[in-house]
Amino acid sequence: MAPSPVTATVIQSLVEELHARLSSQREGKVADYIPELAKADPEDFGIVLATADGRIYAVGHTDKPFTIQSISKPFMYGLALRLLSPAFMKAKVGVEPSGDAFNAISLDPHSGIPRNPMINAGAIATAAQVWHHDPKQAEAITLEFFSTLAGRRLEVDQAVYVSERDTGHRNRAISHLLRNAAVIEEEPEPGLDLYFRQCSIRVTCRDLAVMASTLACQGRNPLTQAEPLDPLITTRMLALMGSCGMYDFAGQWLYDVGMPAKSGVGGGVMAVVPGRLGIAVYSPRLDDFGNSVRGIAVCRELSQILELHLYDQSPLQHSPVRSSYLGTERRSRRWRSAAEAARLDPLRSGIAVLHAQGVLDFAALEAVLSRIDGVTAEASVIVVDLGQVNQLSPASSALLQRQAQRLEGAGLHLLLCRSDHLKLPEGLATPLRCHASLDLALEAAEDRLLESAAGGSPAEAASATPGAAAGSAAPPSAPLLLASLEPALRQAIAERLELRHYSAGTLVTERQQPSDELFIVATGRFSIHLPIQRPGSSGRLARVATFSEGMVFGDAAFFSGQRRMADVVSEGPGSCWLLHRNAFEQLKQQHPHAAIALLSLLAVDLGDKLALCGQQLTLLEDL
Ligand code: GLN
Repeated sequence: MAPSPVTATVIQSLVEELHARLSSQREGKVADYIPELAKADPEDFGIVLATADGRIYAVGHTDKPFTIQSISKPFMYGLALRLLSPAFMKAKVGVEPSGDAFNAISLDPHSGIPRNPMINAGAIATAAQVWHHDPKQAEAITLEFFSTLAGRRLEVDQAVYVSERDTGHRNRAISHLLRNAAVIEEEPEPGLDLYFRQCSIRVTCRDLAVMASTLACQGRNPLTQAEPLDPLITTRMLALMGSCGMYDFAGQWLYDVGMPAKSGVGGGVMAVVPGRLGIAVYSPRLDDFGNSVRGIAVCRELSQILELHLYDQSPLQHSPVRSSYLGTERRSRRWRSAAEAARLDPLRSGIAVLHAQGVLDFAALEAVLSRIDGVTAEASVIVVDLGQVNQLSPASSALLQRQAQRLEGAGLHLLLCRSDHLKLPEGLATPLRCHASLDLALEAAEDRLLESAAGGSPAEAASATPGAAAGSAAPPSAPLLLASLEPALRQAIAERLELRHYSAGTLVTERQQPSDELFIVATGRFSIHLPIQRPGSSGRLARVATFSEGMVFGDAAFFSGQRRMADVVSEGPGSCWLLHRNAFEQLKQQHPHAAIALLSLLAVDLGDKLALCGQQLTLLEDL
């Protein structure tokens, strides 16, 4: 059977069902105290969901214009906070819910100012301050701000504005009360006029949903990426919507629906699921509180069906630490000389690696911190891989920084890796602490172990970790690799080697170049880099290994006759013995025994490297 065509998406059809179900709800009455509002069609019904990442689900009358009315109030308050500062506004309008009707002609008897910016007294006081800030531009600034929130140009509905202005005597009374209480410092009419205009801004259900999603995204419009508000101001607006947004119904609303919201007598309701979703409903029939009847029903149902209630938060379900193990299980790709390996191997359990994942909010980070504390019984260097962490809040990175300092104080080290995509505070994002890859972090951890085993003094540490300073030391007279050979054989080989010195950062061999020599490290460290063969990694190089004294590189291509596969770079000043192809040919001719002896040594070296490569490969399975 042919598959039937895919129709509405899951969320779209869910919203459609809800719309169909609630269309029969005809309770309530269209507002008529402003004559123009009475013209609204009571049957109009639109629902729009706008997600925090910019997807829209729309059903019904979602593009029909209506006036924003009181839904403008939280935005205007946000604009005032932005233009005039929270401290200034605090002296003008309170933030306590009021038990009064939205249009009550009263002030808080204790403070002498309006109780909050969601009732008319507070909203008129707020508009008056915005007007006072820039009398000439106030309306333009307001419209521009609302337009940025909605992501399209909005205008004032002149007919509704005139209707409000000519009949808004109650609001005029409130404005005089505010003038009398010196909340408004001058002639109240211009501020009141701005209030009438802000209430008469024409929006659609879709606009309101986008505006709500802008609040859900801490003030950034997810469709246009514009940022009309900052996170702090947005949080304050949402808090006020939570406690005072639904007039005298605010308590019941928070109890049932659990979302900050705002309604308007034009029939709009806007609700926000912080960080997730903006919801808007348009349906002009209002209940006795002045809230859209269907608007409330839609939000109530969505809250239940989609579990959107703000206080319905499940505890952390996933572990923020994907896996963890000790340094005995994974080592860096810096291949240590036998002597160094002998010092390092018994210490390896002093390293712990934790792979963190997901969103590290407070709860997740607290769990990571406790895992770190748990491993300190054994490990003194803790590597935390942040590569799979999608988000680290500023508060969480501050806690991580405290952990780093705390460990430092106890002589332990916290190293991080793969954190480029996260914003870390300066104190945490030091080059010593943050490493581009797990491999480099492991190497740094190993070096730390060697340093502390050597007593922690820089001089001793340098001698314990050859690459650090030994690059400048004089190379021995013949490669360590040949030490086991009879003197005559050793001599035959050694006299055919060329000792070459490199300054730090020299490209010793280059990919695609012919390979006519192999290298035996005399002093210093040499790193082999290969391009990562993965779509999208655009030529990024990965370190395959770092070699130090006595190790051989360039051998694979030297023997196969292929071009070089990898770049090799000197990490610091260093030197290598080079065996040129013609010198090797000559050795084979003139000293076949010496050539065979050399080949056997190189075969052992190659075998060791293969074994380590195999081990690294199996570890990848586990990343
Ligand atoms: N402009 C209207 C008024 O002040 C806004 C009221 C509202 O939406 N609740 O009466």
